[in-house]
Amino acid sequence: MSLIELDSVTKVYRTGEVSVKALKGISLHLDKQSFVSFIGPSGSGKSTLLNLIGVLDKPTQGTIRVDGTDVNTLDRAAAAAFRGKTIGFVFQNFNLIPVLTVYENVEYPLLMLDRLPSKERRDRVMTLLEKVGMADQMDKYPNHISGGQKQRVAVARALVTNPQIVLADEPTANLDHATAFKVITIMHEMTNEFGTTFIFSTHDPKIVGEAEIIHTLEDGTIVGTERRKANKQ
Ligand code: ADP
Ligand code: MG
Repeated sequence: MSLIELDSVTKVYRTGEVSVKALKGISLHLDKQSFVSFIGPSGSGKSTLLNLIGVLDKPTQGTIRVDGTDVNTLDRAAAAAFRGKTIGFVFQNFNLIPVLTVYENVEYPLLMLDRLPSKERRDRVMTLLEKVGMADQMDKYPNHISGGQKQRVAVARALVTNPQIVLADEPTANLDHATAFKVITIMHEMTNEFGTTFIFSTHDPKIVGEAEIIHTLEDGTIVGTERRKANKQ
C-alpha cells in the first residue's frame, strides 16, 4: 500500500452558472519517504491537487487514500484532526503569525496538538530551529527576518509535529533562486532524516532538481512523470 493513493480523481469548481474542471481524472500513488514535486503552469491544477491530498477539500469524483484512510469519509472535524496528526503545511506566503516570535511560531502547532511536557516541547522546537539554522534568531519577530529565513521557520513549523507528510504549495515562489534552492535543500535533508514524505508544487523548473519524482500537470491532467535517482545527502 502506498502512503497516498489517488484513483480517477476529478475536481470541478462550480460558481453560479460557471464550472471549471480543475482536475480531469488523476490516478497516482506516492510512496512513503519520497520527495515529490508537481510542476506545471499557473492554472494547471497544482494547488487543487495539493489541497485534496492535504484533506483541505474533497474531490468531485474518485477516491483519495492517505495513510490507508479514505479521506472522503471524514467530516470536517475528523478531517481537521487527521490533518493535525498526519500533515504539515508550508505556504507560498510563509503564513507566520506576526505577533509571535520565531520560537513561538514553531512551537504553535505543538500547543495545538496534545500536551507534551514543556521540556520536551522546548527540546523539539530548538532541535528544529537548529536544523534550519534559525536558533540564533529565535526571539525575533517575522517582520525582522528575511523571506528566506521566514520560509526556513515555516519548514521548522511544518516538521515540528513530526508529520508523515509535508505539503508545500509553491514554497519558493517569493524567494530568489539561490535562497529557493537553499530552502529546498534544507527540506530535502530534513525529510530524509525524519523519513517524511515531502510533496511540493512549483512553476519554476529550476528548483525541481532536488525532487526524486516529478509529475508534470497540464490543464488538470498529469502529462508526464520523471523519476530521478534518489539524491540522499
Ligand atoms: P495552479 O495551482 O496550478 O495554478 P489551481 O489548482 O489553483 O492551479 O487552479 C486550477 C483551475 O481551477 C484554474 O482554472 C483555476 O482558475 C480554477 N480554480 C482554482 N480554485 C478555484 C476556486 N476556488 N473556484 C473556482 N475555480 C477555481
Ligand atoms: Mg497554485
